[in-house]
Amino acid sequence: MTKRILVTGGAGFIGTHLCQRLLSEGHEVICLDNFYTGRRANVRPLLEHPRFELARHDVIEPIRLEVTQIYHLACPASPVHYQANPIQTVKTSVLGTLNMLGLAKRVGARFLLASTSEIYGDPLAHPQREDYWGNVNPIGPRSCYDEGKRVAETLAMDYRRQHRVDVCIARIFNTYGPNMLENDGRVVSNFICQALRGEPLTIYGDGSQTRSFCYVDDLVDGLVRLMETQDFAGPVNLGNPSEFTVAELARKTLAMTGSDSPIVHRPLPENDPRRRRPDIALAGERLGWSPKVPLEVGLEQTIAYFRSAIGQT
Ligand code: NAD
Ligand code: UDP
Repeated sequence: MTKRILVTGGAGFIGTHLCQRLLSEGHEVICLDNFYTGRRANVRPLLEHPRFELARHDVIEPIRLEVTQIYHLACPASPVHYQANPIQTVKTSVLGTLNMLGLAKRVGARFLLASTSEIYGDPLAHPQREDYWGNVNPIGPRSCYDEGKRVAETLAMDYRRQHRVDVCIARIFNTYGPNMLENDGRVVSNFICQALRGEPLTIYGDGSQTRSFCYVDDLVDGLVRLMETQDFAGPVNLGNPSEFTVAELARKTLAMTGSDSPIVHRPLPENDPRRRRPDIALAGERLGWSPKVPLEVGLEQTIAYFRSAIGQT
């Protein structure tokens, strides 16, 4: 059955892939975005689609729409972008989520919150399970995002308890793929763009910190499964449990791009988490989901995207 679905942050990296997936399944998609980190170019291929609608709107302001599902993704995700205007980041997470939950309540829509592994902070438990409460600095440079998303989770669960809004929460771990911005600032796009341009790869710290990288198609599949799973609120981790050090990622990127860029070290940002890997047992059990795309395959797709995006052959 065709549904009318709202995707906030739909012109961003994950949002554009999600809009495409929902359109391919026959749904009507309304994409709301204020283009803070999203790009019209990302959604340009969708503009002619008869079931796609794009609206410039800041979720900090309320909006009236009639929809049956809401994927709430609006929020800058890269540390560089969310720290550029931290007060706006907090407003987006708190007031934006409040407004979109209010909308869900009014129209009776199922609501999916794009939360983050960052709510675990610099985790003392490894790998991270959903019942781990986290180790987050409330006053540091990452707090606008970490704490903002923690309040967003709180709001979602309070709307569920107090107003019976049908919410679910995805805790998304590091995700990568085509349509990331060249200046996104996250590690995968930085390393690939640096390698393709022959510039030094910037490893922050000694490169021994770890992350677990999920290809965007796998992630989007997890989001859709979560939305379609009735009577399940989560929170549920969505990410790829294969864990790599940042130094390993740099070496892999150099090998796969055939680049002879040198590696340089830069200071480790404050509160940079040491290790991160999702425990995805719950997603397997409740959503029948696990990621399928290995890092090498996903990197190949992403490198091909950036080669054409930055005008290389
Ligand atoms: P992104 O920055 O590419 O996309 C975010 C989108 O939201 C952009 O199009 C931006 O313009 C829009 N936006 C920001 N503030 C807004 C506002 N106030 N009103 C309307 N639109 C606004 O980021 P992404 O990687 O696509 O992330 C999408 C969501 O997933 C975010 O909520 C992020 O926190 C979450 N997430 C992403 C990752 C990841 O690795 N990509 C990891 C964890 C969580
Ligand atoms: N990082 C790096 N070089 C870069 C960008 C990031 O070494 O050019 C490191 C960063 O310090 C962190 C990891 O890569 O340890 C992942 O950073 P990213 O910003 O992609 O995401 P995070 O998981 O920190 O939100």
